[in-house]
Amino acid sequence: MGIHGLRRWHANGTQGRHILKVEIVKDILSANEQIAQENRRLFDEKGVFVLNVMAAPGAGKTSLIERTIEALRDRLRIGVIEGDVASTIDADRIARLGVPVVQINTGGACHLDANMVRVALPRLPLDETDLLLIENVGNLICPTSFALGEHLKVMIASTPEGDDKPYKYPGMFSVVDVLALNKVDLLPLLEFDLDYFRRGVEALNPDVAFFPVSCKTGKGVQEWIDWLVERCRAS
Ligand code: MG
Ligand code: ZN
Repeated sequence: MGIHGLRRWHANGTQGRHILKVEIVKDILSANEQIAQENRRLFDEKGVFVLNVMAAPGAGKTSLIERTIEALRDRLRIGVIEGDVASTIDADRIARLGVPVVQINTGGACHLDANMVRVALPRLPLDETDLLLIENVGNLICPTSFALGEHLKVMIASTPEGDDKPYKYPGMFSVVDVLALNKVDLLPLLEFDLDYFRRGVEALNPDVAFFPVSCKTGKGVQEWIDWLVERCRAS
């Protein structure tokens, strides 16, 4: 599905087909954009503030979502959409916290798109939701090309991934509104140059809100929560 199925066409294509392929990709993205705008209208109508949480596999998306739910569930009504290629492991973790959660299994696709979210929405109590956290599929590349209707794009990087990631994956670092650097409790064990990492981020996205956190120890999580509540209120 999506943009990736078209690679086969490219591989088999003539020059003429190559031009056609580019136009199809554009059509897919503009169709996605249209559905994303419909999702966004629905969120605004229902007063739901929506985050699209993106990261590489294992960076701590589900862990930060868990921390956020624990910190805010007495103040905000929270819902979650979990995107994964397979399994309900993450949705099961969220369900244990007692908030409504829907698992989307993409069946191989490496990102969520606006239509997958649209299909999931009727299974959530949007009229009784203030904050919807959408966990995208673990991937640093294509999730940025597919808007879901979110108000904020959230990225989680983690220290074991290395301090060079802003330089190697500039696309995602450029477009996000907020960046959490998770697993800072591991910094003493790693050769991770925090200044080098931050310089890379700042060159791409000088306005990004940046939070060094440890979902394991809880360090830095309160700063993220305070910022999120403020953004939620201002919306
Ligand atoms: Mg996860
Ligand atoms: Zn993808």
